[in-house]
Amino acid sequence: MKKTFLTAYILLFTLLSYSQSLLTTFDRTEGKQTTTYADCIQYYEKLDKDFNTILIKKFNTTDAGYLLYLVLYSGDNNFNVNKWQNDKVIILVSNGIHAGEPDGIDASMMLARDLATGKIKAPENVVIAFIAVYNIGGALNRNSFSRVN
Ligand SMILES: [Zn+2]
Repeated sequence: MKKTFLTAYILLFTLLSYSQSLLTTFDRTEGKQTTTYADCIQYYEKLDKDFNTILIKKFNTTDAGYLLYLVLYSGDNNFNVNKWQNDKVIILVSNGIHAGEPDGIDASMMLARDLATGKIKAPENVVIAFIAVYNIGGALNRNSFSRVN
């Protein structure tokens, strides 16, 4: 009995700390702060590692000198993109086109996580491709006065 309780406690603790690790900067700060470029990429690398429904493709090289990250979500773990064109509805989300517009970047991280964890479900014929950050140079040029609006 004691052993069962201990096992349940350890399992619960592990699940709680794991779900904490999936919080974005936006979640942790209750919407007061957005992710940085580095945190965004690290976050998607974790999703890619932890979930079979997420796959990162990296493309050479943006004018900022960094790889362009395309994050794919496929509910049936099928990442044959050529086959997608025949039987899937492909949604492309391009984030961070202009500097100082981070809202979609954060929202996409949360959407990818919620799809991967099964918190929300996409229709079976829908796959999603997220450009993590399109304008990487713009995202890196981050300060209090870089965008006046
Ligand atoms: Zn814009």
